Amino acid sequence: MMKDRDRILTPVEVQTEADFDRSLRPKSLAEFTGQQKIKDILEIAIEATKRRGEPLDHILFYGPPGLGKTTLAHIVANQLDVELKVSSGPVLERPSDLTGILTNLQRHDNLFIDEIHRLNHVVEEYLYPAIEDFRLEIIIDSGPNARSFRIDLEPFTLIGATTRAGLLTSPLRARFGITLRLDYYNIASIEKILARSAKLLSVPLDDAGRFEIAKRSRGTPRVANRLLRRVRDYAQVKGDGLINGDIAISALKMLDVDHAGLDEMDKRILIAIIENYQGGPVGLKTLAVAVGEDPGTIEEIYEPYLIQQGFLDRTPQGRKTTYKAYKHFNLDCPVNQSSILFDE
Ligand code: ADP
Repeated sequence: MMKDRDRILTPVEVQTEADFDRSLRPKSLAEFTGQQKIKDILEIAIEATKRRGEPLDHILFYGPPGLGKTTLAHIVANQLDVELKVSSGPVLERPSDLTGILTNLQRHDNLFIDEIHRLNHVVEEYLYPAIEDFRLEIIIDSGPNARSFRIDLEPFTLIGATTRAGLLTSPLRARFGITLRLDYYNIASIEKILARSAKLLSVPLDDAGRFEIAKRSRGTPRVANRLLRRVRDYAQVKGDGLINGDIAISALKMLDVDHAGLDEMDKRILIAIIENYQGGPVGLKTLAVAVGEDPGTIEEIYEPYLIQQGFLDRTPQGRKTTYKAYKHFNLDCPVNQSSILFDE
């Protein structure tokens, strides 16, 4: 029987952003574009555990938002043919929040905890025996009257997702048998994702239109799908519905989408280094104060993309903007930055 989460929503039903995300979510590893290494590892792990009839090792997915961590968790459960129970770090405030979920898991079910770095330490410690030995230690009363008893759980798989792997405690990290890092997608993969989404949403999209949207998607499927939705509206109002190169370019220009896919925070980081620190080097903490963002978030979410795209350099002295960053904002590159010009 088709599970509710597997149902493809019709365009009319797709109203909220969350619905939209869900409607475009691939349902199998074969449908999931890119991240080949991760898919190979999961494919083998799933097949092997199925043959052995054991629960799959606990899995941790980490990487920037919108790259497919939640999607992969659903796919794993789908391919194992088990239920996926979904929760998240900030929602699980007390051990009792977890008891209900854990005791309701059926044999080999998957428990997905999004933003697992935000679990508080009491809940986290309560989780340890559950994921290690499939049991819960419950302590009632305190002082000399304190007693503990144990509840046995069905063997299950914990799937954790985090954008901030650096914030996970090492005991928690050590308890995941499989740790997989998702990286930004190249343009060809984003184009494939857009082609699939356009087909599912019945949006006419030609090669040039697809390429223009892909270029501005920050290597992120969620951004690509969001832009597709916005360009679709423009194409319907200003054209005949077809998204071609010209329509995509004018729609994205009107929507103020940066031509290299940089978002507001990406731009603030680069501009702050250029304007406040003459292109750097500047230390991470100083930079974080300048842009009003947490240093860890800059390091784990924004920097990887800026470095990958060649806008930013990480040196032992601090962060530096490159010639490409100056060029992006139509600014003159000072002489002390021009060595980077020859590196390109
Ligand atoms: P995360 O949990 O990493 O923030 P999600 O799994 O929610 O990201 O993915 C965001 C959206 O991007 C999903 O709804 C899905 O439609 C799309 N998506 C992500 N990865 C892929 C992929 N590899 N192929 C196709 N679509 C994808």
